[in-house]
Amino acid sequence: DAKEAGRNGYRCYDVSMRERAVRVLKIQRGLQTAVEDGSLSLHFQPKHHGDTGALVGAEALLRWCHPELGAVSPLEFISVAERSGQIGRLGEWVIREACRQLRDWHDRGLSTVRIAINLSPLQIQQPGLVEVAAGIVGAAGLQTSQIMFEVTESMAMRDAERTTAILRDFRAHGFDFAIDDFGTGYSSLAYLQKFQVRQLKIDQFFVQALDEGGHEPRAIIAAIIDLAHTLGMEVVAEGVEKPAQAEVLRALGCDQVQGYLLARPMPAAEFERCCLSGEVAVA
Ligand code: C2E
Ligand code: MG
Ligand code: MG
Ligand code: MG
Repeated sequence: DAKEAGRNGYRCYDVSMRERAVRVLKIQRGLQTAVEDGSLSLHFQPKHHGDTGALVGAEALLRWCHPELGAVSPLEFISVAERSGQIGRLGEWVIREACRQLRDWHDRGLSTVRIAINLSPLQIQQPGLVEVAAGIVGAAGLQTSQIMFEVTESMAMRDAERTTAILRDFRAHGFDFAIDDFGTGYSSLAYLQKFQVRQLKIDQFFVQALDEGGHEPRAIIAAIIDLAHTLGMEVVAEGVEKPAQAEVLRALGCDQVQGYLLARPMPAAEFERCCLSGEVAVA
């Protein structure tokens, strides 16, 4: 009867809540040693020139293998790390590791590669992050202009006044920015201009919507590209998986493309092999 079903329903909910809490706790505990125990790594996904397909840079994407849970998505463990106050250390590891890798590549002739690093909402608000980042870059013998940071549109617009000030500070140190996952949040055009970022990354949602064949997705992408170019920004399309999508993006004048069609995120050694073997033309 209804009462019984309700009880069962409740019990089900209770169990899954509990499982969820246990998983979060395991992730949180695992993260405490992740920086030292070698379970973190970076994968690199090329950013390609929109016309020529040449490699112009790489985005660093964090990977983590939990001893018991196996590979955990960064979308999951980064939000846990934010809530548990572990994001600072984790984020700093990413900057350090990306710089170490870039230094190594430069030493071995991949001198034009630049790296994009994702920053989480809480991380970017940490006072002193820009000095820490500039210090790591300098210690690696790199220029801040060789590193770009990515922040999501929804994060950037959450407190746009504050974001403007933070980005100004980073720019003063020579760092460039990209607005990630653009088009799904609510942007104020006034702030978009104030941010003075170098790139807008069109969310993969719009790229994938091109498959439906209607006029709208294409018109939206064209409008974003127009807007970005008007404001002096480059446009990167994410999540390009099909030749037909790449074709439309090229026709619309998209500056850079990223996606499984061109390359998946890969371990550093594989990235290096691709570039040095000439399998991928490097700009
Ligand atoms: P994002 O920065 O928007 O990165 C793009 C995501 O799309 C990556 O997922 C990438 O592997 C995936 N992707 C790339 N090409 C394609 C494609 O053609 N098709 C599809 N379906 N997906 C594609 P990933 O690596 O799982 O990362 C997810 C998100 O986690 C990232 O989204 C970023 O927000 C966050 N993240 C990753 N690494 C870091 C990090 O070091 N720090 C911070 N704060 N966040 C990170
Ligand atoms: Mg990104
Ligand atoms: Mg994105
Ligand atoms: Mg995303």
